[in-house]
Amino acid sequence: MAQYVKKALVLGAGGFIGSHMVKRLKSEGYWVRGVDLKYPDYSETAADEFVQGDLTDVNFVRRVLEYKGDRGNFYNSVPERYIQPFDEIYQFAADMGGAGFVFTGENDADIMRNSVTINLNVLEQQRLMNDRKGKNTTKIFYSGSACMYPEHNQLDPDNPDCREESAYPANPDSEYGWEKLFSERLYFAYHRNYDMHVRVSRYHNIFGPEGTWNGGREKSPAAICRKVAELPPTGGTIEVWGDGSQTRSFLYIDECIEATRRLMDSNFIGPVNIGSEEMVTINELVETVARVSGKVVQRKHKLDAPLGVRGRNSNNDVVRRELGWDYEQTLEEGIRKTYTWIEEQINEQNH
Ligand code: NAD
Repeated sequence: MAQYVKKALVLGAGGFIGSHMVKRLKSEGYWVRGVDLKYPDYSETAADEFVQGDLTDVNFVRRVLEYKGDRGNFYNSVPERYIQPFDEIYQFAADMGGAGFVFTGENDADIMRNSVTINLNVLEQQRLMNDRKGKNTTKIFYSGSACMYPEHNQLDPDNPDCREESAYPANPDSEYGWEKLFSERLYFAYHRNYDMHVRVSRYHNIFGPEGTWNGGREKSPAAICRKVAELPPTGGTIEVWGDGSQTRSFLYIDECIEATRRLMDSNFIGPVNIGSEEMVTINELVETVARVSGKVVQRKHKLDAPLGVRGRNSNNDVVRRELGWDYEQTLEEGIRKTYTWIEEQINEQNH
């Protein structure tokens, strides 16, 4: 398989960030196996091979980690000598959602069990594969989250502290955040004890086309774009969760993929924030979407909705220093592309 620059395994390749990463790796000349419970919802996968299955199943994970080159695909058995480890693994698989999924408390056990089991399986099975093959060359990227930062540093909406070193004493505001914190520590423990080549990000609210936009797991940029797109052309009123003065920053998907690729190619293992520093209130996010749509939008605040922390913003000092990367697009540019895509989805559904 000499024509491929590298071979990569993308776990969670049927999801938002994973499916975009598969496209990016293919454009760089990689051979890619994607794995997920489901195929991507909004476009064909770009992967050379897409395997549907459950990564909480340890035997499935052991087989998923085996690259067989032109000797066979995932389903064929080939002699052991033809089996190789992947060059790069991108681990995106997790139970994921916006405030309506993560902050109600109803999904906590599922979120923690599913995600932590996947991460344990991937690391331990890759360690066994390294032993079996007598080599240790595979790089593993783990998509951590800013949800692991302590709640007590994010009470002031104007001044949240999300520097990497502010993580301890730990106090995430959700079980999702605790799992993300535990899992990033697990990756670093495998690095320390088994010398495995890990890279760990802390993503801050990634958004863009082909992200979940309905069904209950969507995050605020997609939810607000959908609500505004569903209004009549002149405008109207949308429901906004909370008083709208909670702050966040949002990073456009292409920028997230670029930063992740740079992290993988660098010698820096992280943890590192990957996000935008353009912090806005949720009310300003609504205003941005309204401007992009050309509609007059009024807000009706639902004060008892699940919310998350009062303020959150990325701090990019470390990523600028270590990777020479910074966000470039404004929120409005990203919202323009996302709004257009969500409007198309709604129009397609209505026809
Ligand atoms: P997503 O929900 O679109 O993708 C996750 C994918 O994992 C889904 O397709 C899902 O089917 C798959 N999956 C879940 N359990 C699985 C299992 N047992 N076996 C196989 N596949 C399974 O989410 P996303 O937005 O693409 O996020 C990707 C990763 O980045 C997640 O780990 C998430 O926690 C992390 N992250 C995302 C954001 C963000 O803003 N999107 C922010 C911080 C961290």
